[in-house]
Amino acid sequence: MSGMSLTAASLYDRVQRVIPPIEWPVFSDDIDAILALKRERNAVILAHNYQTPEIFHCVADIVGDSLALARKAMTVEADVIVLAGVHFMAETAKLLNPGKTVLIPDMAAGCSLADSITPEDIRLLRQRYPGVPVVTYVNTSAAVKAESDICCTSGNAKAVVESLGVPRVLMLPDEYLAQNIAAQTDVEIIAWKGHCEVHERFTPGDIRELREAHPGITVLAHPECPPDVVAEADFAGSTAAMSDYVGQKKPARVVLITECSMSDNVAVEHPEVDFIRPCNLCPHMKRITLGNIRTALEQNRHAVTIDASVAARARLAVERMLAV
Ligand code: SF4
Repeated sequence: MSGMSLTAASLYDRVQRVIPPIEWPVFSDDIDAILALKRERNAVILAHNYQTPEIFHCVADIVGDSLALARKAMTVEADVIVLAGVHFMAETAKLLNPGKTVLIPDMAAGCSLADSITPEDIRLLRQRYPGVPVVTYVNTSAAVKAESDICCTSGNAKAVVESLGVPRVLMLPDEYLAQNIAAQTDVEIIAWKGHCEVHERFTPGDIRELREAHPGITVLAHPECPPDVVAEADFAGSTAAMSDYVGQKKPARVVLITECSMSDNVAVEHPEVDFIRPCNLCPHMKRITLGNIRTALEQNRHAVTIDASVAARARLAVERMLAV
């Protein structure tokens, strides 16, 4: 999306299905400013699937789930990376690009999973379960990653757990992801009690109501949802896996049991699919706006820094994951 000829006006076609014309003038000035700032500063914008469509489809250079962003962050040649997502994602980009400036437009864009566990918690768990490897979801701080053996995402968690060749692992901090992976593998999984505040709110009753209201609907759920919700769905997978499912199977009507913007972003690419959109908003993801992305590039804020000794150990855990 970094072509010189792009302007807000030429981008509207892309998002007209999800942004009404009356709302567009609110965005177009910031979009033009951001496109110019990216060129001036040799910057790229990495945007998570939960970012709103005017960010995801109009200013982002690289989009995807946490795993895709982590992988693609390593191939970036720009001087500046703006992470349109939450703080742990910006830290991960910084870990993989220590020489680059990594900016997060709002330092308060956190995550209930990342906030649920501390490095001290992991040190105590290691005392309680000596020799059991610690697999940490990428939705954690760099300091927590530094205490871990290997990271995982919802897209690769099963492969990561099985790559270790051990009968038992600690999988932290998402209890539901751990339970959902435990149902797919023979490896014994010890979970933590962290939850995603967005996905934990869905219930099996929500899905049954959707099926009654929309007979024949295909239900896709994120594995951060409780296991009884996943059991009611037709398919469970990471945001990338849900997006691929829609692209490959082209269900006539679909609902994505996940954060709201995900459906909007996938709907833009599949006009032939009817999306039913009950969803829950992530308040942390929604802290990122075109306005604060523009300010981030104008004022070079907020630069992410990670203590060198923490960074070295955390990077190792992320690199081990990327090698799986
Ligand atoms: S959707 Fe859930 S896991 Fe993702 S950033 Fe928000 S709180 Fe964290």
